[in-house]
Amino acid sequence: MDLEALDAAVISCRACPRLVAWREEVAVVKRAAFRDQEYWGRPVPGFGPAGAALGIVGLAPAAHGANRTGRMFTGDRSGEVLFAAMHAVGLANQAQATHPDTGLLDDRLRLIGTRITSPVRCAPPENMPTPQERDNCRRWLCAELRLLRPTLRAVVVLGAFGWQALLPVLASSSWAVPVPRPKFGHGVRVDLPATDDGPPLALFGCYHVSQRNTMSGRLTPAMVEAVLSAAKHAAGL
Ligand code: SF4
Repeated sequence: MDLEALDAAVISCRACPRLVAWREEVAVVKRAAFRDQEYWGRPVPGFGPAGAALGIVGLAPAAHGANRTGRMFTGDRSGEVLFAAMHAVGLANQAQATHPDTGLLDDRLRLIGTRITSPVRCAPPENMPTPQERDNCRRWLCAELRLLRPTLRAVVVLGAFGWQALLPVLASSSWAVPVPRPKFGHGVRVDLPATDDGPPLALFGCYHVSQRNTMSGRLTPAMVEAVLSAAKHAAGL
Protein backbone atom coordinates (compact mmCIF):
# COMPACT_ATOMS: atom_id res chain seq x y z
CA MET A 1 0.00 0.00 0.00
CA ASP A 2 1.33 3.49 -0.81
CA LEU A 3 0.35 6.81 0.78
CA GLU A 4 -2.31 7.49 -1.80
CA ALA A 5 -3.97 4.14 -1.10
CA LEU A 6 -3.68 4.73 2.64
CA ASP A 7 -5.36 8.13 2.33
CA ALA A 8 -8.12 6.57 0.28
CA ALA A 9 -8.64 3.86 2.90
CA VAL A 10 -8.69 6.10 5.99
CA ILE A 11 -11.56 8.26 4.76
CA SER A 12 -13.93 5.30 4.99
CA CYS A 13 -13.11 4.40 8.60
CA ARG A 14 -16.04 4.18 11.05
CA ALA A 15 -14.30 2.52 14.00
CA CYS A 16 -15.33 5.13 16.62
CA PRO A 17 -19.12 5.43 16.94
CA ARG A 18 -19.04 8.66 18.98
CA LEU A 19 -16.73 10.41 16.51
CA VAL A 20 -18.59 9.16 13.46
CA ALA A 21 -21.82 10.57 14.92
CA TRP A 22 -20.17 13.90 15.82
CA ARG A 23 -18.34 14.50 12.54
CA GLU A 24 -21.51 13.78 10.59
CA GLU A 25 -23.77 15.85 12.84
CA VAL A 26 -21.45 18.85 12.56
CA ALA A 27 -21.45 18.43 8.78
CA VAL A 28 -25.24 18.74 8.75
CA VAL A 29 -25.78 21.43 11.38
CA LYS A 30 -22.77 23.54 10.21
CA ARG A 31 -21.57 26.90 11.48
CA ALA A 32 -23.62 29.82 10.20
CA ALA A 33 -20.65 31.36 8.36
CA PHE A 34 -20.26 28.17 6.31
CA ARG A 35 -23.88 27.17 5.85
CA ASP A 36 -23.61 27.29 2.06
CA GLN A 37 -20.63 24.95 2.01
CA GLU A 38 -20.59 21.19 1.82
CA TYR A 39 -18.70 19.83 4.82
CA TRP A 40 -16.26 16.94 4.41
CA GLY A 41 -17.61 15.17 7.51
CA ARG A 42 -15.26 12.15 7.26
CA PRO A 43 -11.83 11.11 8.56
CA VAL A 44 -9.12 13.50 7.37
CA PRO A 45 -6.07 11.97 5.67
CA GLY A 46 -2.53 13.31 5.99
CA PHE A 47 -1.53 16.18 3.72
CA GLY A 48 1.82 16.50 1.98
CA PRO A 49 4.04 14.62 -0.44
CA ALA A 50 5.14 11.00 -0.30
CA GLY A 51 8.82 10.83 0.57
CA ALA A 52 8.52 13.70 3.06
CA ALA A 53 11.57 14.32 5.25
CA LEU A 54 9.65 16.33 7.86
CA GLY A 55 6.43 15.43 9.64
CA ILE A 56 4.10 17.69 11.61
CA VAL A 57 1.80 15.90 14.05
CA GLY A 58 -1.20 17.65 15.60
CA LEU A 59 -4.12 16.39 17.67
CA ALA A 60 -7.29 15.88 15.61
CA PRO A 61 -9.33 17.76 12.98
CA ALA A 62 -11.35 20.76 14.11
CA ALA A 63 -15.11 20.51 13.70
CA HIS A 64 -15.44 23.51 11.38
CA GLY A 65 -11.85 23.45 10.10
CA ALA A 66 -10.49 20.21 8.66
CA ASN A 67 -13.84 18.45 9.20
CA ARG A 68 -15.25 21.07 6.81
CA THR A 69 -12.44 21.29 4.26
CA GLY A 70 -11.15 17.70 4.38
CA ARG A 71 -7.54 18.85 4.71
CA MET A 72 -5.39 18.80 7.85
CA PHE A 73 -5.25 22.12 9.74
CA THR A 74 -7.14 23.85 6.96
CA GLY A 75 -9.99 26.28 7.49
CA ASP A 76 -9.47 27.50 11.05
CA ARG A 77 -7.30 29.90 13.01
CA SER A 78 -4.82 27.17 14.03
CA GLY A 79 -4.11 26.41 10.42
CA GLU A 80 -3.68 30.07 9.56
CA VAL A 81 -0.92 30.31 12.16
CA LEU A 82 0.71 27.05 11.11
CA PHE A 83 0.73 27.67 7.35
CA ALA A 84 1.93 31.24 7.76
CA ALA A 85 4.86 29.96 9.84
CA MET A 86 5.57 27.17 7.35
CA HIS A 87 5.65 29.69 4.53
CA ALA A 88 7.90 32.01 6.53
CA VAL A 89 10.55 29.30 6.96
CA GLY A 90 10.23 27.85 3.44
CA LEU A 91 8.12 24.76 4.10
CA ALA A 92 5.09 25.90 2.08
CA ASN A 93 4.83 27.79 -1.20
CA GLN A 94 2.26 30.23 0.23
CA ALA A 95 0.94 31.33 3.60
CA GLN A 96 -2.78 30.79 2.93
CA ALA A 97 -4.48 27.40 2.88
CA THR A 98 -7.94 28.81 2.10
CA HIS A 99 -9.37 31.63 0.04
CA PRO A 100 -9.76 34.62 2.37
CA ASP A 101 -13.28 35.53 1.18
CA THR A 102 -14.90 32.11 1.06
CA GLY A 103 -12.88 29.97 3.46
CA LEU A 104 -12.78 27.29 0.75
CA LEU A 105 -9.66 25.23 0.02
CA ASP A 106 -6.91 26.90 -1.93
CA ASP A 107 -5.51 24.10 -4.07
CA ARG A 108 -2.44 26.11 -5.01
CA LEU A 109 -0.90 25.35 -1.61
CA ARG A 110 2.09 23.00 -1.76
CA LEU A 111 4.09 21.73 1.19
CA ILE A 112 7.81 21.36 0.65
CA GLY A 113 9.14 17.98 1.82
CA THR A 114 6.63 18.02 4.67
CA ARG A 115 3.63 15.91 5.60
CA ILE A 116 1.03 17.03 8.16
CA THR A 117 -0.88 14.37 10.01
CA SER A 118 -2.55 13.66 13.34
CA PRO A 119 -3.02 10.74 15.74
CA VAL A 120 -6.83 11.04 15.54
CA ARG A 121 -8.43 11.56 12.12
CA CYS A 122 -12.00 12.51 13.05
CA ALA A 123 -13.12 15.72 14.73
CA PRO A 124 -13.89 15.02 18.41
CA PRO A 125 -16.37 16.97 20.58
CA GLU A 126 -14.53 19.67 22.56
CA ASN A 127 -11.36 18.76 20.61
CA MET A 128 -10.82 15.88 23.03
CA PRO A 129 -10.74 12.27 21.86
CA THR A 130 -11.03 9.51 24.44
CA PRO A 131 -8.06 7.18 25.06
CA GLN A 132 -10.01 4.42 23.30
CA GLU A 133 -10.54 6.62 20.22
CA ARG A 134 -6.84 7.53 20.20
CA ASP A 135 -5.96 3.85 20.37
CA ASN A 136 -8.46 2.95 17.64
CA CYS A 137 -6.84 5.47 15.34
CA ARG A 138 -3.26 4.41 16.06
CA ARG A 139 -3.20 1.98 13.15
CA TRP A 140 -3.55 4.81 10.63
CA LEU A 141 -0.62 6.77 12.04
CA CYS A 142 1.44 3.56 12.28
CA ALA A 143 0.76 2.78 8.64
CA GLU A 144 1.57 6.34 7.55
CA LEU A 145 4.84 6.44 9.47
CA ARG A 146 5.88 3.05 8.13
CA LEU A 147 5.47 4.42 4.61
CA LEU A 148 7.46 7.55 5.48
CA ARG A 149 10.15 5.64 7.42
CA PRO A 150 12.79 5.58 4.64
CA THR A 151 12.79 9.36 4.24
CA LEU A 152 11.53 10.85 7.52
CA ARG A 153 14.29 12.69 9.41
CA ALA A 154 12.41 15.08 11.71
CA VAL A 155 8.97 15.47 13.29
CA VAL A 156 7.43 18.52 14.95
CA VAL A 157 4.78 17.52 17.48
CA LEU A 158 2.19 20.19 18.27
CA GLY A 159 1.08 19.72 21.86
CA ALA A 160 1.29 17.12 24.61
CA PHE A 161 -1.56 14.97 23.26
CA GLY A 162 0.22 14.42 19.96
CA TRP A 163 3.51 13.78 21.76
CA GLN A 164 2.01 11.14 24.03
CA ALA A 165 0.21 9.52 21.12
CA LEU A 166 3.22 9.52 18.83
CA LEU A 167 5.91 8.05 21.09
CA PRO A 168 4.24 4.62 21.46
CA VAL A 169 3.71 4.53 17.69
CA LEU A 170 7.40 5.21 17.09
CA ALA A 171 8.40 2.68 19.76
CA SER A 172 6.21 -0.02 18.20
CA SER A 173 7.57 0.73 14.76
CA SER A 174 11.25 0.65 14.01
CA TRP A 175 12.46 3.60 16.11
CA ALA A 176 14.36 3.24 19.40
CA VAL A 177 12.52 5.52 21.82
CA PRO A 178 14.33 6.11 25.14
CA VAL A 179 12.92 4.67 28.36
CA PRO A 180 11.62 6.40 30.38
CA ARG A 181 9.95 8.23 27.55
CA PRO A 182 10.97 11.86 27.15
CA LYS A 183 8.47 14.44 28.36
CA PHE A 184 6.78 16.96 26.10
CA GLY A 185 7.80 20.59 26.28
CA HIS A 186 8.02 23.52 23.93
CA GLY A 187 11.48 23.52 22.36
CA VAL A 188 12.32 20.00 23.53
CA ARG A 189 14.40 18.02 21.04
CA VAL A 190 14.91 14.25 21.19
CA ASP A 191 17.20 12.46 18.74
CA LEU A 192 16.43 8.86 17.83
CA PRO A 193 19.21 6.86 16.18
CA ALA A 194 19.20 5.43 12.68
CA THR A 195 18.12 1.81 12.27
CA ASP A 196 18.29 -0.71 9.44
CA ASP A 197 14.92 0.65 8.29
CA GLY A 198 15.80 4.30 7.93
CA PRO A 199 17.67 7.44 8.98
CA PRO A 200 17.85 9.03 12.45
CA LEU A 201 14.85 11.02 13.56
CA ALA A 202 14.84 14.34 15.42
CA LEU A 203 11.66 14.95 17.42
CA PHE A 204 10.72 18.52 18.30
CA GLY A 205 8.07 19.60 20.79
CA CYS A 206 6.06 22.76 20.08
CA TYR A 207 3.02 24.15 21.86
CA HIS A 208 -0.11 23.49 19.83
CA VAL A 209 -1.04 26.32 17.46
CA SER A 210 -4.49 26.45 19.04
CA GLN A 211 -6.35 29.72 19.31
CA ARG A 212 -6.07 29.48 23.10
CA ASN A 213 -2.26 29.41 22.93
CA THR A 214 -1.83 31.99 20.18
CA MET A 215 -4.42 34.48 21.47
CA SER A 216 -3.02 34.34 25.00
CA GLY A 217 0.53 34.94 23.75
CA ARG A 218 1.75 31.64 25.16
CA LEU A 219 2.77 30.77 21.62
CA THR A 220 3.91 33.46 19.19
CA PRO A 221 4.51 33.15 15.44
CA ALA A 222 8.22 33.60 16.11
CA MET A 223 8.20 30.63 18.49
CA VAL A 224 6.51 28.40 15.88
CA GLU A 225 8.92 29.55 13.20
CA ALA A 226 11.94 28.85 15.43
CA VAL A 227 10.87 25.22 16.00
CA LEU A 228 9.96 24.69 12.35
CA SER A 229 13.24 26.18 11.25
CA ALA A 230 15.24 23.88 13.53
CA ALA A 231 13.24 20.87 12.32
CA LYS A 232 13.68 21.88 8.70
CA HIS A 233 17.43 21.97 9.24
CA ALA A 234 17.40 18.57 10.97
CA ALA A 235 15.37 17.15 8.08
CA GLY A 236 17.91 18.42 5.56
CA LEU A 237 15.35 20.60 3.79
FE1 SF4 B 1 -11.47 5.69 12.32
FE2 SF4 B 1 -9.64 7.21 13.48
FE3 SF4 B 1 -11.98 8.26 12.82
FE4 SF4 B 1 -11.83 6.52 14.82
S1 SF4 B 1 -10.89 8.57 14.76
S2 SF4 B 1 -13.37 6.54 13.16
S3 SF4 B 1 -10.20 5.12 14.09
S4 SF4 B 1 -10.42 7.44 11.42
